[in-house]
Amino acid sequence: MRKINFSAGPTGLPLSVLEQAKAEFTDFHGEGASIMEVSHRGKTYEEVHFGAMSKIRELYGIGDEYEVLFLQGGAHLQFAMIPFNLYKGGIAEYANTGVWTSKAIKEARLMGVNVSVVASSESEKFNHIPEVNFSNNADYAYICTNNTIYGTQYKTLPHSFAPLVIDASSDFFSEPLDFSDIGLLYGGAQKNAGPSGVSIIIIRKDLIERVWRNDVPTFLRYKTHADAKSLYNTPPTFAIYLLNLTMQWLIDQGGLSAIKERNLAKAKTIYDVIDNSNGFYIGHAQKAHRSVMNISYNIASGEALEAKFVADALAHNMLGLRGHRLVGGIRASIYNAVSQNDVEVLADFMKEFARKNG
Ligand SMILES: *Cc1c(COP(=O)(O)O)cnc(C)c1O
Repeated sequence: MRKINFSAGPTGLPLSVLEQAKAEFTDFHGEGASIMEVSHRGKTYEEVHFGAMSKIRELYGIGDEYEVLFLQGGAHLQFAMIPFNLYKGGIAEYANTGVWTSKAIKEARLMGVNVSVVASSESEKFNHIPEVNFSNNADYAYICTNNTIYGTQYKTLPHSFAPLVIDASSDFFSEPLDFSDIGLLYGGAQKNAGPSGVSIIIIRKDLIERVWRNDVPTFLRYKTHADAKSLYNTPPTFAIYLLNLTMQWLIDQGGLSAIKERNLAKAKTIYDVIDNSNGFYIGHAQKAHRSVMNISYNIASGEALEAKFVADALAHNMLGLRGHRLVGGIRASIYNAVSQNDVEVLADFMKEFARKNG
């Protein structure tokens, strides 16, 4: 029996996507072979590959001024690829809002980039999004829109004159985005868009021509992958196939505006339980900065009850609720594939648990 999946990532995919993949697993559209068993240079695979790219364009409504790339190495490789390509020897500005931006900053500094941290909420355990003011002379300006571990999220994008670079790993495809300042938007697929193994990079075309140094390896240049339409080397074909199905599922749901409304309602359902629990549950993030995707909270009376919560929830068929070790407690990740009904099961469980243990 499938459980309700509240894992932070990898996590649940829409059941209809898995069912379709299962139905075509050994024989894709009469090919007599699985999609993972055919050449990435053939027409059959190319339809999947370019189909996924065009669905991504359709969902975000992005035009010809952007390129969509499929790369490997997860979000982590982008921590290095971004400076390798977008840095010009001046200043790179970063807003530090959690573990993932801290890692990106550390990587850029390791490479010799002059990093300026223009805002940080580190001293308050990353419980909010600080005010971010980028200067007008940076090579690029870097943020992470949704902080998966601490459960905070930007409600509006900060303005930037320099190309805005966004790690959207955990809120990709969860709401429409205004691309006016965006130079590069990226993330691993494994939270909202598909399985692990493929990362999606949406990059403004003029930035593809940039490269910091002459000795940047061929493979680490965006231009290499843009010129080859993300077929420079063998791509993770099965992951991209599942990404394509997930993007189709999103379109069938009514696209990003519709999914945003659903996501807001889901998040409200859980935050309301926290706020009405008379202090039994304590949310980590300040209210104005709460994530719609990852809800991190503690139980006031301490760790023992938190462990019991996670164990009891599992016994009630709910997976993946243990908080990240840095925050402790509980984290409910409610990405696109989690339904309102799933969230209500958790909300009811939370109320009952508080009643019994409060
Ligand atoms: C999960 C996550 C990452 C790391 O992704 P990998 O694909 O494992 O490298 C980076 N940034 C954010 C915001 C994440 O949620």
